[in-house]
Amino acid sequence: MTASALAVAGLTCLHLSAVGALPREVHVEAVRPYLDGRRDVRILIAEGASGVSVRPLGAAYVVDDQSGARLGVVRKGSLLSASRRGPKVRISGSGLYISRERIRISPAGPDLGVRMSTRGGWGRRGSYPGSLLLTSTERGLRVVEQVDLETYIAGVVASEMPSHFPPEAAKAQAIAARTYALYHLGGHAAGEADLCARVHCQAYGGAAAADSRASKGAKATAGRVLVWDAVLVDAMYHSACGGATATAWEVRQGKLLPYLRTVNDSSHLGPSSAYCAQDHTIDWTRRYSFAEADQLARRNLGLLLGWRDLKPGRLRALEVVRGPDGGRVQWLKVTTGTGTYEVRGDAIRWLFGDGRPGPNGLRSTVFEMRAGTTAGGGPVSFVFSGRGHGHGIGLCQWGARGRALSGQTAYEILAAYYPGCRFWGGARGLSGFLPNDTL
Ligand SMILES: [Zn+2]
Ligand SMILES: [Zn+2]
Repeated sequence: MTASALAVAGLTCLHLSAVGALPREVHVEAVRPYLDGRRDVRILIAEGASGVSVRPLGAAYVVDDQSGARLGVVRKGSLLSASRRGPKVRISGSGLYISRERIRISPAGPDLGVRMSTRGGWGRRGSYPGSLLLTSTERGLRVVEQVDLETYIAGVVASEMPSHFPPEAAKAQAIAARTYALYHLGGHAAGEADLCARVHCQAYGGAAAADSRASKGAKATAGRVLVWDAVLVDAMYHSACGGATATAWEVRQGKLLPYLRTVNDSSHLGPSSAYCAQDHTIDWTRRYSFAEADQLARRNLGLLLGWRDLKPGRLRALEVVRGPDGGRVQWLKVTTGTGTYEVRGDAIRWLFGDGRPGPNGLRSTVFEMRAGTTAGGGPVSFVFSGRGHGHGIGLCQWGARGRALSGQTAYEILAAYYPGCRFWGGARGLSGFLPNDTL
């Protein structure tokens, strides 16, 4: 670790001890079984469903996951329907009618997989290459796919990045997604699943086409991850930064990692030539009438501040506070009949959405706000004119596209967005740091 890195790390401890959280440390050796293909990842692909339909794409086994006993063999294309019976899962179809607490449907051979669709709750219809574990929870059926890391990564790249993005961008995305996945292992369903298939973790809709850039990007970088010293990087990424990426702590309090810091994403041609500028939705505008903003603030302020029964009263004013670099909005001061509340970082986006991370709300925290006023000075509307999409931390996907089109390699792209990080592993079986000159 360099002297400057030590100084930053010291600052990290001070800062995080104040909120009682230290960043997770995952040593590369701890994840080697996943990189070598000896251990699979477990992806939560459905939760709270009232029904699940499974159609094997080849022969498949139905197995009692607790005893390991084989309960039946189903033929290609036959339909299995799962429903919940108290603590058990009931499977019917193809001559089977069985109830167990944990039922696994396993393809009989590689490259077969199953098609899955769900009713109720959430789940993404798709072709899943791994084995599916069905369990019953109080909310409904849960499905966790157990799948080889590299197959999962190809599926993530296919879901996270448009298929026309250049090959080097897909390779950079594959390395970021692989590193992110291994850093966040075990994070769902009380440790029964590693990651969910939604944007909360990484979007994943099942297998990627074998000849897609996503599959090729995953294959070309198989087993390769980003490290800081010998510890995995929290390789966050987003859609478009709008000109400069964000320092993590500005957006997500409590995440101060030395490589998640602001990076200028403009080429030498100046600020109007951000690498992500070709995202045609990069500039955005949202207008809220005073009544809409008032309603959103009343509904969402308590949720965002962790004060559920807060009754903030009528909205009076909104005020924007920027960070020292004048870029992203750091705080939004919300003045209501009962006081002034400070909403920080990404939570500002959700104030105008559902009060939690999701597709609604402001697209980013890079924005100007104008308040339309009455003759008497009272606000009648708020107009937000912004740039970029997403939290702005780490790799900028549209920027990766722009950099790849201008000739940068996947390694140059990653070195730009995660400054100071190195690569580890690669080509299953090979391990160790890659020399810096490969950057
Ligand atoms: Zn998740
Ligand atoms: Zn960008």
